[in-house]
Amino acid sequence: MLPAAFLESAMTDAPLTTDIAIIGAGPVGLFSVFEAGMLDMRCVVLDALDLAGGQCAALYPEKPIYDIPGHPKIEAQALIDRLVEQAAPFKPVYELGSAVSGLTGDAGQGFTLTTAAGKSIRAKAVLVAAGCGAFGPNRPPLAGLEAYEGKSVHYLVKRREDFRGKRIVIAGGGDSAVDWALSLPEVAAKVMVVHRRPKFRAAPESEKRLHAMAAEGKVEMVIPYQLDALEGEGGNLSAVIVKTLEGQAKRLEADHLLAFFGLSMNLGPIAQWGLNLDKNHISVDPATLQTSVPGIFAVGDIANYPGKLKLILSGFSEAAMALHAAREIVHPGKVHHFEYSTTRGVG
Ligand code: FAD
Repeated sequence: MLPAAFLESAMTDAPLTTDIAIIGAGPVGLFSVFEAGMLDMRCVVLDALDLAGGQCAALYPEKPIYDIPGHPKIEAQALIDRLVEQAAPFKPVYELGSAVSGLTGDAGQGFTLTTAAGKSIRAKAVLVAAGCGAFGPNRPPLAGLEAYEGKSVHYLVKRREDFRGKRIVIAGGGDSAVDWALSLPEVAAKVMVVHRRPKFRAAPESEKRLHAMAAEGKVEMVIPYQLDALEGEGGNLSAVIVKTLEGQAKRLEADHLLAFFGLSMNLGPIAQWGLNLDKNHISVDPATLQTSVPGIFAVGDIANYPGKLKLILSGFSEAAMALHAAREIVHPGKVHHFEYSTTRGVG
């Protein structure tokens, strides 16, 4: 549930001119609103998804994060709720469900962003906090998969409770697969883990715990198997067929399949905006986070520079540095006296 302050700002009759247009309402985009506000800059925040929170909200809302300074443990959605609350005093305008397709202009004249739905936003500077770009799951190549998607085949867990009393097949060998295999037995009737080889790509400690749970009979390991086919009717799964590389098949009776084969990154329209790119990332100056186009900054997972760490905490620091640099464009010639938040206060 989003705080009331969020809903209030989301419903504001959006002024379509702003100081900073932030592309991406992930954790880094949200914290950027706070940093911009502290420097007297207004923001419009656009996201292709119809919810704020980026990967945290869309991919792992109930998972605890352990490396946010000051929070020994915080669930991903709770972190997003706090960031939204922290940004609220600066009254950001949220344009959710708005994929930014076009970006033109320059630091002198200002920038124009256009959304896929044809809306325009004018901004003095732009902060690209677009994570992996338009991200989507890697989908297993199974016949008739579409009919089951969203009903009994899922690529993320939004609410663990949805799986209470259900028989679940988890496919994949990374952190998401292992973490949910550790967590879901607390609510599910049965959890089966399908992986093509004995070694997992998850954190070693998690993998150890998974094998311990399997030894206790809490999880059934189906190794070395791969997904082969789905059985069911009307989008409701009744079984998942798995096969070894040699073609030996097994039928797993199940209500849900959770397929965790990672995300495919697609920069989408961002690749057409004339920014210097390094594979699927935007190259930036690490001192200012400015891209190859003056006035356009990139922060968070999408930004790349030597030594880059793709962590939320790095993104927060990048946001602060980028917005200090952007301030020179938004308020040119205005003398800035650096102030701590304790001195300045918020709002
Ligand atoms: P994102 O969270 O990716 O948000 C980017 C947003 O931009 C998205 O909402 C997307 O829809 C939007 N967008 C993209 N293109 C456009 C466009 N053209 N128009 C409009 N909107 C657009 N990090 C940690 O620090 N600690 C952890 O413990 C941790 N655990 C993780 C566990 C899992 C399972 C996963 C998947 C990631 C984890 N991470 C962790 C990584 C962390 O989630 C990312 O580093 C973080 O989300 C990056 O934030 P961001 O704001 O840069 O981008």
